Amino acid sequence: MTGEAHMLYQSTRNDRNKITGAEAIVRGLSSDGGLYVPESFPEVTQETVTKLAAMPYHERAAFITGLYLDDFNADELSRFASDAYTSGFDDPAVAPLKKLSEGTYFLELWHGPTCAFKDMALQLLPHLLTASLKKTGETREVCILVATSGDTGKAALEGFRDVPGTRIMVFYPRDGVSDVQKLQMTSQAGGNVNVVAVEGNFDDAQTGVKAIFSDTELSSMLDSRGYFLSSANSINWGRLVPQIVYYFSAYCDLLKNGCIKPGGKVNFCVPTGNFGNILAAYYASRMGLPVNKLICASNRNDVLTQFINTGVYDRNRPFYTTASPSMDILVSSNLERLLYEMSGKDGGTVADYMQALSAGGVYAIPDPVKREINRMFAGGYCSEPDTMKTINDVFYDHDYLIDTHTAVAYKVLCDYKKDTGDDTPSVVVSTASAFKFCDSVLDALSKPVSGGVNSASCGVELLDKLAEVTGTGIPAPLAALKGSAARFNASVPVGSMKEAVTEFLTGLTAG
Ligand SMILES: *Cc1c(COP(=O)(O)O)cnc(C)c1O
Repeated sequence: MTGEAHMLYQSTRNDRNKITGAEAIVRGLSSDGGLYVPESFPEVTQETVTKLAAMPYHERAAFITGLYLDDFNADELSRFASDAYTSGFDDPAVAPLKKLSEGTYFLELWHGPTCAFKDMALQLLPHLLTASLKKTGETREVCILVATSGDTGKAALEGFRDVPGTRIMVFYPRDGVSDVQKLQMTSQAGGNVNVVAVEGNFDDAQTGVKAIFSDTELSSMLDSRGYFLSSANSINWGRLVPQIVYYFSAYCDLLKNGCIKPGGKVNFCVPTGNFGNILAAYYASRMGLPVNKLICASNRNDVLTQFINTGVYDRNRPFYTTASPSMDILVSSNLERLLYEMSGKDGGTVADYMQALSAGGVYAIPDPVKREINRMFAGGYCSEPDTMKTINDVFYDHDYLIDTHTAVAYKVLCDYKKDTGDDTPSVVVSTASAFKFCDSVLDALSKPVSGGVNSASCGVELLDKLAEVTGTGIPAPLAALKGSAARFNASVPVGSMKEAVTEFLTGLTAG
């Protein structure tokens, strides 16, 4: 492809500086605070989709990612995809599609090494990032900073552990993750990793990490010591592009199994937090994937579905800790990328919304923009009792075990169908193994956890109980947690996250 024009990326807040895919992946976040977006969307024809349907997952991935990352050659991407998606997944389909009932399917994205959908991107990202560092001539060591609502942290640690030229540091909300999630992170192996609890919620952790990224004093100090910071959160383009793949893959499998005709439309219902997963579905539709509706499912923290239904984004509201912690988010970063597309790629308007959001916690979009969003997106929310009831119903009616996040999505899909009469074939995006949230899932199955959970290993012992109650095998990576000990016990106030980063990278303590 030498000599050809490459796909370029620009910030959602300013379209003056265009950069390549490799540069976007290295930088993570634009220096103006915006997120990198592709200048245009590559087109995928129905003919190509039919060809992809005959390929295994890793070849589908190499093809789709290649459309965006055309500064990588096809051999590289094939190698990366086959590395990422062959050994670490416990299902040969990688992202298998399961039929629940006529017209309703579950896309299982949790067969990777950490049992949540974050693996779909984070098994590939380290390959993309290390290659991008070479392509951009970067010689400093990269430190990946992650704020996690529970699943990204572990998936990023697993993806980056002992990758040469990288370090990784994860911040998680101390009281906002499940016991299994916490032990998965604190027991992480690897010589280049660090895990710290933040005394706050996910939004606090995410805001803290963003502040560290835009701290120029810190970055020049780290630069002088041969380090720079980058992100493995879904603000990084390298996270999003692998997520587009599985929407095509699901469509391919529906075609292959005769569930739809070529060109037939489908709905996707996505349990949503930071809006990365559903945004990837939107990008797939912009590339030509026949999508009817994208249904955004929220838990009790329904700031996004309120936005879709009213046009007002208002984060001034209580923050709830729910049974679906990976969706306990009030400031949804990737919505900025949707706003950009929906506002006619007007970076100034997006910057104004984001300014209003950080100043007063609220912004409103004009009616035409809202109408445009509603042509593609519907939104709904699921209460805590309904989440529990849904897990119970699906298990006892269909003999199918789902986690709390997936339950939110399935309930929202059922409500949507009832309200609209839309009978388009629908795919529920299943984002985590039920075993990651075994205490809540056991509760939902009316097998309450007796005596509560009082030590790090207690949550893990529930794995056996859930296996016994449901007759389902514990995923191997979670079974391996039994008997593993926490390596990382540090916890810091929100205001001390920067010092924790400095200490990790330079060994210097504050003061
Ligand atoms: C991260 C996560 C979500 C939310 O995905 P976003 O891309 O942040 O919207 C939903 N479910 C699970 C299990 C997750 O780990």
